[in-house]
Amino acid sequence: MILWPWEEQELVQKAKESVEMVIGSEALVPSDDPRTQLLEQVCHRLWQQGISEKDKNNGIKEPTVYLIDNEELLDGVSYPCSAITLTTCWLRLIDYDENLLAAVVAHEIAHILQNHASEFYGMSFIIKVVTKLGEMIGNIIPGLDKERVQQRPILFLQEHSQKLEKEADILGQEIMARAGYDPAKAIELWELMVALEETNKSSLEQVQIPKSSHDEEGRGIRHVSDTFRYHPLKEHRVKYLTENLLQTQNLYDKAVKL
Ligand SMILES: [Zn+2]
Repeated sequence: MILWPWEEQELVQKAKESVEMVIGSEALVPSDDPRTQLLEQVCHRLWQQGISEKDKNNGIKEPTVYLIDNEELLDGVSYPCSAITLTTCWLRLIDYDENLLAAVVAHEIAHILQNHASEFYGMSFIIKVVTKLGEMIGNIIPGLDKERVQQRPILFLQEHSQKLEKEADILGQEIMARAGYDPAKAIELWELMVALEETNKSSLEQVQIPKSSHDEEGRGIRHVSDTFRYHPLKEHRVKYLTENLLQTQNLYDKAVKL
């Protein structure tokens, strides 16, 4: 744990404010819309049946999901106050497939359970300090490649973010399986994302690392279509999810036999 308990409390409060801001400023799909109902139903089932006894007892409440009416931007955020926002663009991408949606939501739930937003916040705070030190050292030591000194923390943060993504992928796949959703669909989802990345590649080359990719203020973990630099490589992601499939398949078999 990188943050003190009161700092975490503060983050949860900030997250709540962010969620209120988002739902106040974005067009939400009404609660009686079948798309919202599908999302709520999937999240509820994942939470009720998918998470382990240990996670159930850690005091986190069932996430509230908000569906934002935006067909153009692929955006999903998990907030440490146990809220998830998703754009309708996600639903369109997965063609309203319930199992694929379960893969998306289970991944977001995993971020919340693993407290990733505050971990990333803590880490980026440390990185800022290190970067500052790097700048100071760069000024003191003549001839030092300043750019490299400043580049490294960003690479480190990317690697750390990839580690968190992997943790969320693995736990997310388990949550799916326990809730009786086909865990192989998690692999299919990321293959779909990779196909999307391939299509966007030429434009990605020029893209700077977006500031909003992971909220450094710790308000949430964001998954938006232009943040793939923060995500594990395609081959890597598919590989570990396939390896994890053996184990999650057992959980799935057990769940569907009940
Ligand atoms: Zn993630």
